[in-house]
Amino acid sequence: MAAGGGGWSCPHDVDGRCGKVNMLPCDPGMKGCELYGRFAFFNDDKNARLREKRAREARAAGPEGGGMKPEGPAGAD
Ligand code: SF4
Repeated sequence: MAAGGGGWSCPHDVDGRCGKVNMLPCDPGMKGCELYGRFAFFNDDKNARLREKRAREARAAGPEGGGMKPEGPAGAD
């Protein structure tokens, strides 16, 4: 699989396999991937910690921020 969209390609991607993670099929954001935990992904599992961080920030912002809305920017539940 080509990594991501918008023209970025991973330097570790070798014909769809990851030269960084044991030549496993490239799965951007998988454990061991250099992107792991650093960006938001379409696979929601990989966004869990990002969402927790956002939720904490939203609470810290206080009620005048509008609080949690049912439809977030990710919008993929
Ligand atoms: S899994 Fe991550 S580090 Fe490995 S080739 Fe894909 S994008 Fe690159």
